[in-house]
Amino acid sequence: MSADKNEILARARELGVKFIRLQFTDITGVLKNVAITVEQLEKALDGELMFDGSSIHGFVRIEESDMYLRPDPNTFVVFPWRPRDGAVARLICDIYNPDGTPFAGCPRNALKRVLARAQRLGFTMNVGPECEFFLFYTDSEGRPTLRTHDRAGYFDLSPVDMGENARRSMVLTLEEMGFEIEASHHEVAPGQHEIDFKYSDALDVADKIITFKFVVRTIAQRHGLHATFMPKPIFGINGSGMHMHQSLFRDGQNVFYDPHDPLGLSDIARYYIGGLLRHARALAAVTSPTVNSYKRLVPGYEAPVYISWAERNRSPLIRVPAKRGASTRIELRCPDPSCNPYLAIAACLAAGLDGIEKKIEPPPPCNFNIYELSPEERCKFGIGSLPASLEEALKELAADEVIKGALGEHIYERFREAKQKEWDEYRTQVCPWEIEQYLGKF
Ligand code: GLU
Ligand code: MG
Repeated sequence: MSADKNEILARARELGVKFIRLQFTDITGVLKNVAITVEQLEKALDGELMFDGSSIHGFVRIEESDMYLRPDPNTFVVFPWRPRDGAVARLICDIYNPDGTPFAGCPRNALKRVLARAQRLGFTMNVGPECEFFLFYTDSEGRPTLRTHDRAGYFDLSPVDMGENARRSMVLTLEEMGFEIEASHHEVAPGQHEIDFKYSDALDVADKIITFKFVVRTIAQRHGLHATFMPKPIFGINGSGMHMHQSLFRDGQNVFYDPHDPLGLSDIARYYIGGLLRHARALAAVTSPTVNSYKRLVPGYEAPVYISWAERNRSPLIRVPAKRGASTRIELRCPDPSCNPYLAIAACLAAGLDGIEKKIEPPPPCNFNIYELSPEERCKFGIGSLPASLEEALKELAADEVIKGALGEHIYERFREAKQKEWDEYRTQVCPWEIEQYLGKF
């Protein structure tokens, strides 16, 4: 259902909205916003509001800094935790150039571009994310610590799960904002949680992921906790992933399903898997884009390491959940919640479409525990590994025209520059592990 300008103006009036936050993300997926008063809303909805893009990560140079925000009326929602009197609402925006063309550095535009390509082939994409996060105590100055509030484990209940109250209020708030929450539970590690919302079309889900992270952090803070989507905050326990369930539809039908196939999977589904596997090493730079992401992608913590797929078991990169019919989908397990969801979904779709267009057959499914294979056996089965570091992933990305194409040249160049800098800064740090190993020894 798409809303129009007059509807939004009327709803803002009815709900007593005073402030509207115009939101968008920079290339690293960080949510930005500028607040306007309701008096400016009509002008904003007409796309007439300008901002200085030169201070935003990966946007533009100072001499070409005037950018226009075009709010998407479908994203209008009131923040339930703000006062009802003088309420605060938000709109997610696309960024436009002064000449009225879509700005190439806007991640939401990049996703729209790949979705339009899929649409030309007759496909729409559905995505269902599984967002995991940690809740930590803050110190007396409000800074996050690494102390968790509980000792609970997978699916545990209170009283061990002291984050339950915070999680409950996150779920209620998200529901008030139009999310359909399917499940919420304690995850495997102490202090780790997961809240799953219903799958939806790709653009809506990308908007929901950025909203989700912002809401979870806001509500955690109100419970004296810090929510982090950092992929691997603590060595030796599970990290946080954001597995992405993906399917393609055509004329309202799930085209991943084929009742006549022994696995119930269509050729399109298999080729889509083939495309994801072929581009996995470059894709990782976008779905797992931080130095820390690669501390998660190691054996032993339910995160993927090897490039393969399976029907049920959770060790490979791609799992095909048992459901068939309209729910047929594949689950990609490398993304983590530090990614920019617009870019990550755009890159996945581009990889999948490449598989479909080139009819890339995936290797046979790997229905055994890959972690039990020797390196020689993995080699025999043709099972490669995900990059072991951000540096390795960036090299793969530089060589992959399909994934680079999904980002577009502007975003790719800024992304590469920012991520190379991140890697170089990290590479020269001296970390506690080194001190422990070497200070006494040499
Ligand atoms: N936390 C795990 C990861 O990093 C996933 C656990 C699960 O299967 O839900 O991907
Ligand atoms: Mg999970």
